[in-house]
Amino acid sequence: MERVRFCRQCGELLEEQWIHCPWCGKELLYGTLSWEAIVDDSLDCAEHENLKGCMGQLDDISGRLDALELELDAFLAGKI
Ligand SMILES: [Zn+2]
Repeated sequence: MERVRFCRQCGELLEEQWIHCPWCGKELLYGTLSWEAIVDDSLDCAEHENLKGCMGQLDDISGRLDALELELDAFLAGKI
């Protein structure tokens, strides 16, 4: 099942396995979703000790990790 992606920077249609946008050179893996953003959210959550917020965020992070896993697979497939 193919996903359709568009470059966040220039808006061109992209192949899922592409790591960089061939049109503008944008780094696609980190342009759409990043480990850093997820880690930042987790740390922010822990700092504020907001347990209710953390539970909601965990669901959100879980969904984002699934998406990130797809990105990572595409990244590795393109690298090797
Ligand atoms: Zn682009």
